[in-house]
Amino acid sequence: MSDPLLSLRELTVTYGSRRRGGAVRAVNQVSIDIARGETVALVGESGSGKSSIGNSIVGLAPLSAGTIVLDGQEIASATRRVDKPSVSRQVQMVFQDPYGSLNPTRTIEQSLIEPMVVHRSLSRKKMRETVRSMLTDVGLSPEAATRYPTHFSGGQRQRIALARALMIEPDLIICDEAVSALDVSVQAQVLNLLARLQHARGLAYLFISHDLAVVRLLADRIVVLYRGQIMESGPTAGFVSQPCHPYTRVLLAAAPVPDPAYQRERRRLRNVAARSEEPNAVAPGSGCPFAGRCMYAVDQCRRERPQLRPRGDSLVACHRVDDLPEFPMSL
Ligand code: SF4
Repeated sequence: MSDPLLSLRELTVTYGSRRRGGAVRAVNQVSIDIARGETVALVGESGSGKSSIGNSIVGLAPLSAGTIVLDGQEIASATRRVDKPSVSRQVQMVFQDPYGSLNPTRTIEQSLIEPMVVHRSLSRKKMRETVRSMLTDVGLSPEAATRYPTHFSGGQRQRIALARALMIEPDLIICDEAVSALDVSVQAQVLNLLARLQHARGLAYLFISHDLAVVRLLADRIVVLYRGQIMESGPTAGFVSQPCHPYTRVLLAAAPVPDPAYQRERRRLRNVAARSEEPNAVAPGSGCPFAGRCMYAVDQCRRERPQLRPRGDSLVACHRVDDLPEFPMSL
């Protein structure tokens, strides 16, 4: 990869105070690069740390260790907090609930002009034209500008939130569960829109989701997180054809397949992981965080934290990656 647009190095995010005994490490030494124009997906269940990573990039979660480098400049470390206004010029977020960025008492035009007032020096007339042109770009009528958020469906509101994020021409958009609340057909429309906008504008996406089936439609690379650590990362095609890590397999097994024999085997994988011990059976940092739910765990897994090691085009953190059976496929 040429110089990445965004580089996260050994990123660690801790909430609460260690002195008061209430510290929770949400992200543990995570390193990820994102190139210009690339889509990297962060996937994991609730509590995996994926939103904490997104929040740390825009300054909503402070780092306790590691660094964030954006376009060659260090923007955050344990001793340096993100300067939100300057980072927001290059990085914008779109959330699951578009109401987070759309004030229900303001027209769409007012909401879309706001980021331009802060970041772009355009005349009022030019801003109004830009709003209408952007609404067309995201598949809405220019007349939408004079209406309020309550006049739109969930999918339309997500298009408006995306338009708002695009108003200052960022390089990277962090989509945090941005399509999770939409029904399947609307999800597909918004994913197609994201792909079209990326192609036209050279945007990079950090696409945060709990759903591997959704991200594989959009992502160039996938990073799977469990309890704040990377379990597996690599090109999307490899995840779909042969997922290596036992946790990735559990996530993929949630997607139904037409072959009943494969479907039975996948259900068994999911059920074993769901029944197994929770919370984690090992102390943080001392073993594999997935050991308490893994059907392949051995003593070594509880003693030693597995490091990310290359396997084909992917990186996988699992002591037993060479011993695992084939994943039941037939997608
Ligand atoms: S290291 Fe052990 S517990 Fe962790 S995923 Fe691999 S086999 Fe399972």
